[in-house]
Amino acid sequence: MAFTHALLSIILFSLILFSSDLAASQNAKAQSGRINTLPAGETHVHLNEGMYYFEAFSKVSFKQIQQLPGSEWRFHPNSSLFLGTSQSYVWIKIPLQSNSDAPAEWIMTLDWPLVKSIDWYHYRESTQTLLSSGRFNDWQIPPDAPDEFPFAIPLTLDSDSTTLLYLRILPPEKALLPVTLWPEESFSDHQLQRNWYLGLFYGVLFAMFGYNLSLFIFLRHKAFAAYCFYVATMAGYTLIMNGAGIAWLWSDYPALLTYAYRILVSLGFFAALMFIRQFLQLKHRGTVLNRSSQVVCYLWLAILLITPVVSASVVIPLIDVFGLINCLFAIGVSGYLWYRDDRSAKYLTLSWFVLIVSTIIMLLSLNDVFPYIIELHYLQNIGVTIEVLLLSMALAERINRDRKMRSEAQDIALQMSTEAAKAKESEMAAQQRLLGIERRVKEELSLKVNKQTRELTVAMHKLQIMNKELEQLSLTDPLTGLANRRYFDKRFTEEIQRAKRNHSLIGLLMLDIDHFKKVNDSLGHQAGDHVIQSLSALIQRVSGRASDLPARVGGEEFCLLICNDTEDRIASLAESIRQSAAAERVKYRDELIRYTISIGVYCVIPAPDTTPAMILKAVDDALYQAKNEGRNRVVIVSEATPHS
Ligand code: GH3
Ligand code: MG
Ligand code: MG
Repeated sequence: MAFTHALLSIILFSLILFSSDLAASQNAKAQSGRINTLPAGETHVHLNEGMYYFEAFSKVSFKQIQQLPGSEWRFHPNSSLFLGTSQSYVWIKIPLQSNSDAPAEWIMTLDWPLVKSIDWYHYRESTQTLLSSGRFNDWQIPPDAPDEFPFAIPLTLDSDSTTLLYLRILPPEKALLPVTLWPEESFSDHQLQRNWYLGLFYGVLFAMFGYNLSLFIFLRHKAFAAYCFYVATMAGYTLIMNGAGIAWLWSDYPALLTYAYRILVSLGFFAALMFIRQFLQLKHRGTVLNRSSQVVCYLWLAILLITPVVSASVVIPLIDVFGLINCLFAIGVSGYLWYRDDRSAKYLTLSWFVLIVSTIIMLLSLNDVFPYIIELHYLQNIGVTIEVLLLSMALAERINRDRKMRSEAQDIALQMSTEAAKAKESEMAAQQRLLGIERRVKEELSLKVNKQTRELTVAMHKLQIMNKELEQLSLTDPLTGLANRRYFDKRFTEEIQRAKRNHSLIGLLMLDIDHFKKVNDSLGHQAGDHVIQSLSALIQRVSGRASDLPARVGGEEFCLLICNDTEDRIASLAESIRQSAAAERVKYRDELIRYTISIGVYCVIPAPDTTPAMILKAVDDALYQAKNEGRNRVVIVSEATPHS
């Protein structure tokens, strides 16, 4: 992981402090002529006896350096020398002494790629002879060098003789210088192993890259793309740091190599941040996590932008500081989310820890805190491999978990929709039942209403009949069943009007029983009633026409109104009635009552000004006349044809 480089810086700073203390205590020993000893029979040996260094601020020549007093050289007790980020030349002096039974041909490797140029001089001090010399400039490995990388210097060491190796180094960026000595044969074995190892390492990275890229293509999940981007930057970063990039890819582009470390570390951090954002879904973890991770991303983009224009001595410390902030941020976020029970954060933190721990072990061993073995130098690559594998597994696990959750959510949604459909169904059934009930109620109600309406109609009908009967009663004389005076007056007025309109004849008969008082007086009032009833029946019987209107207009007085008839027929009808009455015997108890009637008749075609009272007066006068003339007779007065 790229941020481990920032960790590397932190640890290095503390180690430098630690080692500078140690250097001070060892300086005395060094100046007393302590030198490296090469044990026989080892496949390789790390220079554990230290070296001397001198920082020259100008390009000092080899001649000048030889004349440098011993007190100017500073002793570094460890095998790796941290050269800082200064762009000044550093001279290193390594005393070499071989055992008598050790091989003569050796190869010295300087296993740190971020070195712009190295000049080396193998010198025997006793005879003041320059045994051999060479140069690596702008990462150009000379054709006769033992290998393309690491920087390898062939040395011939006579047994039991002491020689000095001078190195002049221009570190373009930060440099750490682990120095290893190899017998020639074991170096080629090591190179073979190393190439196998790097092949395997990049094979794994390539496989994980391809696998996750195909997942991205098929699943279109951005986290896979972020992972691929991160793996690509890690591949680039490790290609720089283990020298494979220089050996295999970019030695023809020294300008690119000058910036490679700065660009790839920044890109690596940027990619790591992008991956963390995607992997932990920081977008949905609240504004603070989302915004702060965005800010850190922008910081790395800003550093990338200024890298070509700002000097390494500014950019590299900036990368160190931001790297530290980035690491603290990433670990803080990941740890916090782990604490909040996020499984993805747990995997992320664990996989980083593998890388961090491997980087720490490597750095400690490079600084001789652990015994240095060359394989440790590639420990960081192993850490990267494990991290990349773990992250890929964690990513797959997380995506799987997401999918599972999604499918569970879909199941729940399906179940809920089924339940909702059921609920809807039962609601509809309930509604149907309700509608049924409503319909039945309506039917029953309408039946009831119909029944009640029928009953009401019947009642109304009855009422109408009763009303009619009542009206009839109010218009009928109770004793005789004939029309009473009220009804007679009404009809009489109407008929006069009609006769006026039609200029038709109206005949009115007024009948009165003669000496009726005597009947009452002799036979009693009930007998009188019988006579009255008998006369009314007689009038109806004799008149016989439906259009004639007989009425009882007083105690024993009757009227008979005849319309649309001739005067003669009216006269003969009056006469018939009189005669019938005279001939009639009314049976009352044991008595047969005889009676006569007098009739006044008035026939008229009413003039427009003729009133009912005028006609009544005329007919009354006729009746009066009949009474006066001796009773039991008919007196006819006619306005149409005067008649006596
Ligand atoms: P006249 O020949 O002049 O008509 O003599 P009359 O006795 O009939 O005299 P009048 O017509 O004036 O008398 C009518 C009598 O009829 C008087 C009354 O006692 C009697 N009367 C009236 N209404 C009723 C009735 O409803 N029933 C009975 N029984 N008698 C009645
Ligand atoms: Mg009378
Ligand atoms: Mg009378």
